[in-house]
Amino acid sequence: MSAELAFNRNIDVDYGVAENIAPGIRRIVAQNPGPYTFLGTNTYLVGDSEVAIIDPGPQDETHLEAIARATRGQRVSHILITHSHRDHCDGARPLQRRLGGEIVAYGPTGTERGAVAPGLGDGFIDSAFQPDVPVTDGDTIKANGFALDVLHMPGHAPDHLCFALIGERTVFTGDHVMGWNTTVIAPPEGNMSAFLNSLDRLSQRYDKVFYPGHGGRIETPRRVVRAYLTHRTWREQTILACIDEGVNTIPRIVARLYGGLDTNLKVAAALSVLAHLQFLTERGIVTPEGAAEGLSAFYVRAASGSESAFSSSPA
Ligand SMILES: [Zn+2]
Repeated sequence: MSAELAFNRNIDVDYGVAENIAPGIRRIVAQNPGPYTFLGTNTYLVGDSEVAIIDPGPQDETHLEAIARATRGQRVSHILITHSHRDHCDGARPLQRRLGGEIVAYGPTGTERGAVAPGLGDGFIDSAFQPDVPVTDGDTIKANGFALDVLHMPGHAPDHLCFALIGERTVFTGDHVMGWNTTVIAPPEGNMSAFLNSLDRLSQRYDKVFYPGHGGRIETPRRVVRAYLTHRTWREQTILACIDEGVNTIPRIVARLYGGLDTNLKVAAALSVLAHLQFLTERGIVTPEGAAEGLSAFYVRAASGSESAFSSSPA
């Protein structure tokens, strides 16, 4: 197993330009590059006469103007939101005021939102976000000329949806599977057990292309999903190995495993380690000790824990 997943990060973007990426699919990249967003958020326009906008992106006037320009003369039927992180959904209402279209998303989950880390908190989430039309797994969104299946894929966020273009073996994956990096799982917003379960479901489909929320298209979807699963198995094993050597607090595990990482990304790394430790705890393999749970606990092997870590399903 390898530590790193291979991604093609050599992509050029022309911010504000609607690029034809497949028949009936265009992409406009928002100019919000950053450590968590790569070159920016991808906004997809699906359809010809009628158009669904997937992830309007941040509230950025230049980006919203680019979407308005690209859809001139077309009817916007839907504004679809993969999940209520601000870099995906903040533009939804301002865009709707300009172009119309029903805002469609999973809606409130009733679960605890945010990330337990200083400096991260819940600023990246719009926890008050409300769609016009809440949808869930198995629903279909129909417009003139195309239809999309709704897949509820929690893990990165509890309300995360993917949209599968019916008849095209094409899925818009949001941040569930990305084209440039592994997905951040930051508890309680992120949940490792749910994430792996969602990946497993995606690996059982026969799609030919994924269009992620950040980064370029993924042309080998099953391979990438399996690589994501393998990467998580490998990461879990390295965390267990740390604990067995007495490196058993999150800061020490992060220092050991992510020594070279930039301070900014170390927060995400700490949350990812926490997500793994919670998943190991759920299965009775490790136990948190000490006064506090979460980031300040230390972890030991559970007395009754089974040796086996999770393994992704074959094929
Ligand atoms: Zn996100």
